[in-house]
Amino acid sequence: MAQADTPQPSTFLITGGAGFIGSHLADALLQAGHTVLVIDNLSTGSIDNIAHQLDHPNFHFARASLTDTIVLDRLASQADVIIHLAAAVGVKLIVEHPVHTIETNVMGTEMVLQAALRYQCRVLLASTSEVYGKGSKIPFSEEDDVLLGSTSKSRWAYAASKMVDEFLGLAYQREYGLPVIPFRLFNTVGPRQTGRYGMVVPRFVRQALRGEPLTVYGDGTQCRCFCHVLDVVDALVGLAFHPDAPGRVYNIGATEEISINNLARRIIALTHSRSTITHIPYSEAYAPGFEDMQRRVPDTRRIQSLTGWQPRRSLDDILQAVIAFEKKRQESEQN
Ligand code: UDP
Repeated sequence: MAQADTPQPSTFLITGGAGFIGSHLADALLQAGHTVLVIDNLSTGSIDNIAHQLDHPNFHFARASLTDTIVLDRLASQADVIIHLAAAVGVKLIVEHPVHTIETNVMGTEMVLQAALRYQCRVLLASTSEVYGKGSKIPFSEEDDVLLGSTSKSRWAYAASKMVDEFLGLAYQREYGLPVIPFRLFNTVGPRQTGRYGMVVPRFVRQALRGEPLTVYGDGTQCRCFCHVLDVVDALVGLAFHPDAPGRVYNIGATEEISINNLARRIIALTHSRSTITHIPYSEAYAPGFEDMQRRVPDTRRIQSLTGWQPRRSLDDILQAVIAFEKKRQESEQN
């Protein structure tokens, strides 16, 4: 097994670098002595996530969309590695704005790959565990068949758009020799994540801190594995520098499962909240006919055997970090 060399200082372009994951990645790369360029149109990202880096000499922020080809081209021309995170994400956003989701995810990736090809940048492409769709095999492995729902259900547009991204990235590698590393993120959580687009952990924490009922969708027996965003960042940095990473897809996620009912109980206990739990039918929470997955567990042997990566932080570490962050946010909102 080839080992990654000690990383030389490199220039990274992070698309979506003002988002939840991108901003943590920028912090880690700057900390390690790299230069970070960010392109973000702030549609779902926030300037608050990167405000503390704006004066850093090795940090540059461009507020622009990926369709702004002149800006993208200039940034790509300076980059060694592009980490493409910009996308329409979050089930709620996808169900409510399917045209935006499909266009952003497919066209944005095409723009990034074309720019990367001009300057021979290594590319890490963000994909999602949603591509495993309704598969019931536990755990999900990268080479598994996928089972998506009908095109009449807009939830599946997200998975399909990300599959096109993966196909396109792998095709650029095969046909043009561009080093491309698609990765499938499972549920990723931590400070700075917003609950606005449906993500369960920040929503429950905010509800608990306000003493409001925690809104569990469906019967709450569905399970998820939540991975700390800083563990995800470590995984991405490992892939970015590993010489043998390109040309294959990698799962990134935690493997400790918890039901959404138990997650709600754990958050109520950790926040010492008097909140209750209320169950809301999926049809009310999302849209009639909405299909959820009962379980979603990653098989992470591929990345582990390549880079040695595995998550180091527990669910309680994650929840404590999110609670501390949300408490601070609520305090500053009140002042
Ligand atoms: N969920 C919930 N209440 C909420 C938000 C989400 O019960 O306020 C459920 C959602 O239906 C899913 C799980 O929590 O079963 C995880 O949802 P999230 O949107 O965080 O990620 P997903 O796994 O759907 O991508």
